[in-house]
Amino acid sequence: MTSRYLTILLVILFFTTSCGTKKRITSSTEDMKTPFEINDNHSATYEEAIAYYNLLSQKYNQIITVPFGLTDSGFPLHEVIIDKDMVFDPEVSKSSGKVILLVNNAIHPGEPCGVDASMMLARELLENKEWAELLDQTVIVIIPFYNISGGLNRGSYSRANQNGPEEYGFRGNAQNLDLNRDFIKADTRNAESFNRLFNKWDPDVFIDNHTSNGADYQYVITLIATQKDKLQKDISKYMTREMLPELYKEMKNDGYEMTPYVFSRGTPDEGIAGFLDLPRYSSGYAAMNHTISFMPETHMLKPFKDRVWSVFYFMENMLHHLNENYEEIIKVRNKGRKEYASAKEHDLSWTLDFDETDEIEFKGYEAGYKESKVTGQSRLYYDRDKPFTKKIPFYNTYNSTATIKKPKAYIIPQAYRKVIERLKWNNVVMERVESDTLIDVVQYKIDNYESRKSPYEGHYLHYNVEVTPVEKEMLIRKGDYIIYTGQGKDRYVIETLEPQAPDSFFAWNFMDGVLMSKEYFSSYVFEERAEELLKKDRSLRRAFEKKKDEDEAFSKDARAQLRFIYERSPHYEQQYMHYPILRIE
Ligand SMILES: [Zn+2]
Repeated sequence: MTSRYLTILLVILFFTTSCGTKKRITSSTEDMKTPFEINDNHSATYEEAIAYYNLLSQKYNQIITVPFGLTDSGFPLHEVIIDKDMVFDPEVSKSSGKVILLVNNAIHPGEPCGVDASMMLARELLENKEWAELLDQTVIVIIPFYNISGGLNRGSYSRANQNGPEEYGFRGNAQNLDLNRDFIKADTRNAESFNRLFNKWDPDVFIDNHTSNGADYQYVITLIATQKDKLQKDISKYMTREMLPELYKEMKNDGYEMTPYVFSRGTPDEGIAGFLDLPRYSSGYAAMNHTISFMPETHMLKPFKDRVWSVFYFMENMLHHLNENYEEIIKVRNKGRKEYASAKEHDLSWTLDFDETDEIEFKGYEAGYKESKVTGQSRLYYDRDKPFTKKIPFYNTYNSTATIKKPKAYIIPQAYRKVIERLKWNNVVMERVESDTLIDVVQYKIDNYESRKSPYEGHYLHYNVEVTPVEKEMLIRKGDYIIYTGQGKDRYVIETLEPQAPDSFFAWNFMDGVLMSKEYFSSYVFEERAEELLKKDRSLRRAFEKKKDEDEAFSKDARAQLRFIYERSPHYEQQYMHYPILRIE
């Protein structure tokens, strides 16, 4: 075939596969072009992005750009709302049966494709009559620039392996924290504002735009869908059976074929694994709220221009899907949320099942090893002249590793102000105790925990937490908080308040006070008291003798023996190693 015929054939193929009902972007007038459209290796700065949305907001009545809460940068967070009916109110939009799509950009300002793609998308939705139909049943809320302080720290070097744009922001924010680990602990004002904004809208679908690192392969865009086995099962079924197949199909039609995010231990052809997006991550936080969530990850080695367009079309395809399936999505979310609120048991943590694999078709580049000219050692390389398409294993089944029985209520002492604050940002329904009251509760005794040896995002995160529930009667103080379960926010409540959950407030060091004893005893003074206690208490004496018989080290350790008696005496403090948040069963 001559090259001329080939070209004609390709043009025909392009139009037959990509037109269909698809809406093509209009060529915008010069003054409405985004900075990216003027120079396709330039990503809009924070100031340029806000100025552009302000310009759109002056020109069109269907969009507003408003500050929403603070960020660590000193500048406010902005929310951009595009609503065809111009009500800009979540309650009204929800009661009229619309779905809400929330889009977050520049959480990692070095990965800014979404910043530029969202600006163009907003304009098309407003300027282009055909595109405006995409908002018939959807309100779209855009966070133009989430990590503002990171975005202001602009340069060209912090993403060593990335192909453009020419300048971009830095991952860490003004506290050098990664905002995509901050959604539960909320050390930043950004996370506080996000928690509140997210709960104001309670979006049905959430997209957080990123760029990947790692292996080389043919795809411009990869996709992290929130972990299906962690999502409520009806919502998960909808996402995996209805939404994902359509998104994959439509992206392929648009010339941006996707693959699941390439999370691999070696090269991708050895297999890739589904990502466990714990609640600390944006999509995991969204899943706690029964929101279907995605992190598109564009590929860092593909030109910036292609990456931006891939994200643009991903969001457009999502709007298409929402427009056609809004009723079903709202129904399935309501059902899922109710089901979760009425369930008796809940999973807290999950682990990847390596025995369960799916096969997916993967378009990669052959990997090889050769001698490094730098180190002289063997080095990995991907050969772009040797593309392949083959089946590879996809590990995407997660099993629960800890399940708890849901209590009737939790009691939070008012002293734990940071916990209460976060629950309030998340619209958790709470009541105050009206007077000092004795209540039968279950308190966890903390038997064991491990902590990270070096700081992780500003914390010495705890893990492998083991507890024993102890029934007791305790005095609950006037003003303490009671949270009854069975509410729409159960999942957030349980996964933050149960200490064994990987992103619980306990894990994030909110209650470290109870992990250190405050009083102690002097052995020489306690000797006589210990003797007296053993004489008076026969069961204590039996336990003590048994321990000495069975534990040789103990039998030779005088201090340990006195401590054994001390810990079982009225002198021992009740706070140490006792989890302060109580359960009412
Ligand atoms: Zn990222």
